[in-house]
Amino acid sequence: MKTVYFFGDGKADGSASDKNILGGKGANLAEMTILGIPVPPGFTISTDVCTYFMQKGEYPADLTNEVENNLHQIESIMGHTFGDSNNPLLVSVRSGARQSMPGMMETVLNIGLTSQTIPGLIQKSGDERFAYDAYRRLITMYADVVMEKAADIGPGEGEGIREKLEALLENLKLKKKVKNDADLDAEDLKCLCEKFKETIKIHLGQEFPDDPHTQLWGSVTAVFKSWNGKRAAHYRNIENIPSEWGTAVNIQAMVFGNMGEDCATGVAFTRNPATGENKFYGEWLQNAQGEDVVAGLRTPNPLNESSRIGGDEGLPTLENNMPTIYAELAAIQQRLEIHYHDMQDIEFTIQNGRLWMLQTRTGKRNGAAAIRMAIEMLESGMIEEKTAIMRVNTGQLDEIMHPTLDTDIEKDFSIMATGLPAGPGGASGQIVFTADDAENWHNDGKKVILVRKETSPEDIHGMYASQAVLTARGGMTSHAALVARGWGKCCVVGCSEIQISAIEKTLSSNGTLLKEGDWITLNGSTGNIYAGEIPLKAADLQSNIFFKKLMELVDKHRAMGVRTNADSPIEAKQALEFGAQGIGLCRTEHMFFNPERIMSIREMIIAENDEDRRKAIMKLLSHQKSDFYEILKTMAPYPVTIRLLDPPLHEFLPQENSQIQELAQALKMSRNKLDARIEHLHELNPMLGHRGCRLGISYPEITEMQARAIFEASAELIMEGTTPYPEVMVPLVGSVSEFIHQRKIIDAMANQVQEKNKVKIDYLVGTMIELPRACATADEIAKEAEFFSFGTNDLTQTTFGFSRDDIGSFLPEYLEQNILAGDPFQSIDKEGVGSLVTMGVEKGRSVNASLKIGICGEHGGDPQSIHFFQRSGLDYVSCSPFRVPIARLAAAQAEAG
Ligand code: ADP
Ligand code: MG
Ligand code: MG
Repeated sequence: MKTVYFFGDGKADGSASDKNILGGKGANLAEMTILGIPVPPGFTISTDVCTYFMQKGEYPADLTNEVENNLHQIESIMGHTFGDSNNPLLVSVRSGARQSMPGMMETVLNIGLTSQTIPGLIQKSGDERFAYDAYRRLITMYADVVMEKAADIGPGEGEGIREKLEALLENLKLKKKVKNDADLDAEDLKCLCEKFKETIKIHLGQEFPDDPHTQLWGSVTAVFKSWNGKRAAHYRNIENIPSEWGTAVNIQAMVFGNMGEDCATGVAFTRNPATGENKFYGEWLQNAQGEDVVAGLRTPNPLNESSRIGGDEGLPTLENNMPTIYAELAAIQQRLEIHYHDMQDIEFTIQNGRLWMLQTRTGKRNGAAAIRMAIEMLESGMIEEKTAIMRVNTGQLDEIMHPTLDTDIEKDFSIMATGLPAGPGGASGQIVFTADDAENWHNDGKKVILVRKETSPEDIHGMYASQAVLTARGGMTSHAALVARGWGKCCVVGCSEIQISAIEKTLSSNGTLLKEGDWITLNGSTGNIYAGEIPLKAADLQSNIFFKKLMELVDKHRAMGVRTNADSPIEAKQALEFGAQGIGLCRTEHMFFNPERIMSIREMIIAENDEDRRKAIMKLLSHQKSDFYEILKTMAPYPVTIRLLDPPLHEFLPQENSQIQELAQALKMSRNKLDARIEHLHELNPMLGHRGCRLGISYPEITEMQARAIFEASAELIMEGTTPYPEVMVPLVGSVSEFIHQRKIIDAMANQVQEKNKVKIDYLVGTMIELPRACATADEIAKEAEFFSFGTNDLTQTTFGFSRDDIGSFLPEYLEQNILAGDPFQSIDKEGVGSLVTMGVEKGRSVNASLKIGICGEHGGDPQSIHFFQRSGLDYVSCSPFRVPIARLAAAQAEAG
């Protein structure tokens, strides 16, 4: 197998299409090199080597030779030699998986600095301070990544070697009474490096290696090992990245942004990743090395005027400071975006007035930005319609439907501090100061906001568990910002006005002191933070033109219909605004719980003979009729699927003593008799009991009343000039004879109402398919039914034999032990429940080609399930109103993908 791929001097062994073997970083470094963009030469050790190493615990036999040969190639391009005491080459060792995992894995810079090579670097650069600055960075990274993390030493919070070394640096600055690293001179840094090495010896029991090859191989191995590190594994879990992929390792000649005032480093996006605006956006630092920006150690400067966010007027831009290089960078970023047809996230370094590109990748963006970019790139001809549809994921769409702070209330709160607006929307929660606390509190059902000086990849689980993240340091491209943006999470970074005490667990700013557990509110769109809780307000989609355009595009490209599950005219209206094309499930019983009606329902249930029951039912008729009238009218001419009474009757009975007493009085019934009647209705297993069409069969007068309400409401609407389209749905059918029984009653009532009012009502009668037996006999049922609607909640329940209401007692173990891949009530179980759906569709259509088929379970709003339903040939999905746009997008993606 080929283990090593070279890039440099305009040529490369790989290209952007080799992400699987080179990882994203390596593949794009190769691609940029081929494009003639200035990239320091280097080579990539493939992901196959990672897999090999993971399995065998050793490297392929020829790897050492290959690495040596490729190192020589770098040497000859750069004119430096690795480990040479006069003219040393330094390299970086950088991780890079197929899919970017920001900051999850390790990078070590300045490898090759030893007591032998330092004098050479000083001589060549003529800058002793620079050499020791590079050295102390190498020592810190190497100790942290190689000597501690890869050795599986798990220090406590704040106890890591990196923290210890950084504390030494801070102490030195205090002692010298200086603020910035840059104010320390060569001698200071030289002493610091000696201190670092002593500290490492004491805490890790080993010497920092003084041999360039030991440093190189130590780093390579550490990067490979980091793939299986705790935090990388955790991140993969969240992002669904398979652990078999492995990471590649890139070894690349160092270029230095920390060699003086004509040096700099920065991170940029070809478009604004927070808003989507088509403006080059980024951050930079003069005289600094790359990780200073990414790790958020120094709050960076805006790259250009369009990167300013307010409050940063005094800060210098690269555009003004180094106009020629800025122009070169601007041209390269544009070229990269056009080349990749997507927004790029780039890293660059300027060494003595010369620009070097160090990375390009598809940039993470939040929901609003993703939509805007997709539409604008489509309109400018950069991408096609189908690509634009695939560019926005359903999570991003979900995100923009998320709430923001209620501005009317926000304005009455005083701003506690302001940071950088790194993640969208607003959030309130209780303050916690460590990632572990965030996770624990979250597991206890609390809403938390994680507050950190800066976040590191170790905090990932806590960030995930939090409503939002607040950091005191770091810029818009810091770790916290990048991760939060990827998840669409509210986030404020670089809030330097706040002081955090990790020991006392307090947060203070401008005279306000907050403790752990106190409430705090963040506005991720302005960067303002507030003490206390501010209520959230639903998102305003109506004025978002990009959202509108995306939805139009999506509707043009999808084949499946999208309906909504709605029980009231208010919900129906909401769903219409979100683009629903009808109601797929209207649950009649939800209308029964209103206090005025519940009495009549109870009377109906308690009735001991048909006559009493009929009387009670007639009281319900007018209520039901007006409900159906409103809903059918709101939705007309779209169809409304009305499900007949479904739940077990005892759900409607009073539980509390006082309620039972009240009912006894109202019914003029003795308490004993009522108790006996309630006792009689009790079922051991109500989910499999007297419910669904079984009720309508025992009490046909209920079906009759509901059918009458539906058709009389429809007749009235027709006479008023509206075109209602009711679809009457019989629940829980397992045998065709059940359906035939109910259908007779429904059709008879339809005829009666049509004749009496001399109108013709367009209606369908169909059934919910939610029992395995219904799927198995779907060809029988479809001869009698005009539509099927899969009730996948009950179908999942009856297929697995899992009680929906009790699954919590064992599901966590099932997931943990990988017995189930996911909760089957959230995403459809394709193999089991799914094959019943497929069987139902095939059998149904085999006898009734015009059978209309939809799905109305919770799965109707789940993107993965929607893809499955598309493949199964369903006509529509139905979901809750707020999921409608997501279902529309998922349906279009299922069609396009
Ligand atoms: P990550 O994937 O966490 O961004 P990188 O491998 O990109 O890690 O490296 C971290 C930082 O070090 C980046 O700012 C990068 O630009 C910088 N860097 C990496 N390699 C070099 C190099 N050869 N010369 C100069 N800077 C480098
Ligand atoms: Mg990087
Ligand atoms: Mg059901």
